[in-house]
Amino acid sequence: MNFPAFHQWKDAFTHLFFPHICPGCNSDLVNEQQMVCSSCMMNLPYTGFQDIKNNPVEKLFWGRTNIRNAFSVFYFIIDTPLQRMIHQIKYKNNQSLGIYLGNIMGNALHHYSNTYPIDILIPMPLHPKKEYRRGYNQSDLLCEGIKENLGIPFRNDVLLRNFNTSTQTKKSRIERWENVSNVFALHHVESISDKHILLIDDVITTGASTEACAALLLKNKAASVSICSLAYTL
Ligand SMILES: [Zn+2]
Repeated sequence: MNFPAFHQWKDAFTHLFFPHICPGCNSDLVNEQQMVCSSCMMNLPYTGFQDIKNNPVEKLFWGRTNIRNAFSVFYFIIDTPLQRMIHQIKYKNNQSLGIYLGNIMGNALHHYSNTYPIDILIPMPLHPKKEYRRGYNQSDLLCEGIKENLGIPFRNDVLLRNFNTSTQTKKSRIERWENVSNVFALHHVESISDKHILLIDDVITTGASTEACAALLLKNKAASVSICSLAYTL
């Protein structure tokens, strides 16, 4: 009599309690290796902004800091598979999905990174209290995936958020621009000298925090700073 191998038992057991479902649409995934179903993959709302000059994300930064390029890989649209995936990354501890989406971002950036070679990926830092509660920074996961795909190093020990700053949610747009300048701090400054840095964020809305970080990096001798987010809120 043949007994199933241990890993088969384990798979069946895991499936019973943690059904392998697509984080975008909740459909059952047939292939255990698959992270997202093919329908959700095919319908991801790509912007193509990385290859478009003067795209809407770049316009957010016009007249402010001298950003080299800015773009989001996807549109953020409420009640879509991508929005549900972002929710999983931010609030449901689905860290492997974050790395997976980072890899997809990396795929979309092949042409861009050949045109504008990137030296370092730097994730937008979370408020330390938030990172402590969540256990990780979702932008780190995105960087990890991009690094896997494109082989560009990433550093999450350079740009940090100061501890004694409030979160921004209740402030107006103008107040946010004015309040972010002392929120961030730089460490290991020598590592950014003369480098083209790609700042990685999850969702860009006003761009205020990202702009403050870019300004800080440029003030400390980064050669140029570009901004890339997973998604852009319409
Ligand atoms: Zn799906």
